[in-house]
Amino acid sequence: MSKVVIIGSGLGGLSCGYILQKNGYDVTILEQGVQIGGCLQCFTRKGAKFETGMHFIGSCAEGQTMNAVMRYLGLLDDIKLSQLDTTAYDKICLAGEQFHFANGSEAFIDKMASYFPKEKDNLAKYMSIVNQVASASRLKSLTSDIRDTHLETEYQMRSINSILDELFGDELLKSVLVGNIPLYSAERNKTPFSQHAFIMDFYNQSAFRIVGGSDAIAKSLARSIEVMGGQVMTRKKVIRIECDDTHAKGVITADENFYETDYVISTVHPNRMLEMLDTKLIRPAFRTRITSIPNTAACFGVYVKFKENVVPYMNSNYYGYVDNTPWGCEHYTSAEWPKGFLYMHMCHEDKPQWAKSGVILSYMNMEDVAQWTGTEIGRRGTDYEAFKASKAEVLMRQVEKHFPGFMDSVDCYFTSTPLTYIDYTGTEDGSMYGVSKDINLGVAGRVPYKTKIPNLLLAGQNVNSHGMMGVIVGTIVTCSELVPADVIYEQIKEANKQ
Ligand SMILES: Cc1cc2nc3c(=O)[nH]c(=O)nc-3n(C[C@H](O)[C@H](O)[C@H](O)COP(=O)(O)OP(=O)(O)OC[C@H]3O[C@@H](n4cnc5c(N)ncnc54)[C@H](O)[C@@H]3O)c2cc1C
Repeated sequence: MSKVVIIGSGLGGLSCGYILQKNGYDVTILEQGVQIGGCLQCFTRKGAKFETGMHFIGSCAEGQTMNAVMRYLGLLDDIKLSQLDTTAYDKICLAGEQFHFANGSEAFIDKMASYFPKEKDNLAKYMSIVNQVASASRLKSLTSDIRDTHLETEYQMRSINSILDELFGDELLKSVLVGNIPLYSAERNKTPFSQHAFIMDFYNQSAFRIVGGSDAIAKSLARSIEVMGGQVMTRKKVIRIECDDTHAKGVITADENFYETDYVISTVHPNRMLEMLDTKLIRPAFRTRITSIPNTAACFGVYVKFKENVVPYMNSNYYGYVDNTPWGCEHYTSAEWPKGFLYMHMCHEDKPQWAKSGVILSYMNMEDVAQWTGTEIGRRGTDYEAFKASKAEVLMRQVEKHFPGFMDSVDCYFTSTPLTYIDYTGTEDGSMYGVSKDINLGVAGRVPYKTKIPNLLLAGQNVNSHGMMGVIVGTIVTCSELVPADVIYEQIKEANKQ
């Protein structure tokens, strides 16, 4: 039985571990933290539970792609999903007006056309492109042959705004359609339209919260891996990938254990992986290229525990903007911050009447907290606590403008900054979604899933893309080095036979 050591127990590490253990590999997952899950981690304070990363997932209705993948991964037996409002899973508030995204192509077009009647035909064209781009994904067709490279290439090389400019005349509509860009931290003239299309399609099909929190995904995958004979270990920070002249031989952890292995899969940020490698097999030019790829924005989070039975559960995501555009909210002066926010409620039980907790996220750059770099969680000092409290007050006051009475409903709150994500996930500069996609960089901006070290592979959000779908697509590509992709697709189909 060949051994595989996987570095990191986020969605990338756990989904790779599940597929490989199922297909006859002996998997050991090494996680630096005390909790597994990476961005699937939750925390509980003063009786309220909070999600730190994944808050909702798409395409999970019966017959849809993520539903099939989750059944294959054994997740549908273990976790409960709660569907967001099908007529308004995302609510975008721009220029003082609200616009709702409805599930299903036709419903989406009709809803948008009710706000922008003159653009109905263009909305149909837009949705048709979104569907075509998303359909070119192998995961959607569950086969490695179907792939419309022409479509993929054109929409991978052109920016979101350039395609929207071509399709629509109405400036407000163009802004509304990118109202949920905090989900992928898109930037004008940089982020490819394909990224927008995949995410629009993913959530347009259907959108669900994970009842009780996203850590249920991590716990289920880890349990399944262990039941199949694999190992998931916490407090195991990998500090070095040991290589001979041609191959990786094993990994060394901070507690000075050596794990000998046939394959290593790194699911951590590629810059963290490069720090573990001291071998001439990795050329300086590769290091320079990878470490030069820009990263997606970081965020500030306010985790609110509400007073009991005061706040009705909001079955939607709410994106509030100060100006009339979602673009550029990551560029701000301290007086301008926050230019926008994403506000969501945690779903603690299926279709709850009242919200117990919620989260407010807004972009925050690493420079804002750079002075506390190197300090330890919980011991960063009173000036850091004061900084966080003042930012939280400003952000909550912004939410109050959209939800009068919000401030009075807060029982207590907790906060996170880019430093929190660095410490809990190892991401670069606190970046939410890892490396960014930039049409101007082309392939130089891509993190490969293979390296010059033949038995060292990469997976996780920095390869392919982030999020439930992006990470799992990447997982299948990476695992297909060890198990043919068509075998994996057949297994997914088999798991979904009635
Ligand atoms: C604020 C936020 C909101 C999000 N919302 C959504 C959402 O609503 N829907 C959605 O689909 N996606 C969402 N995402 C994205 C999604 O959560 C991530 O793309 C995905 O979970 C990343 O998984 P990963 O395995 O690639 O990385 P991570 O989850 O970052 O896992 C990497 C793991 O590696 C570990 N590690 C790092 N260094 C070492 C080391 N040296 N040794 C051992 N272990 C190490 C880390 O501790 C971590 O556990 C969100 C992300 C964020 C940050």
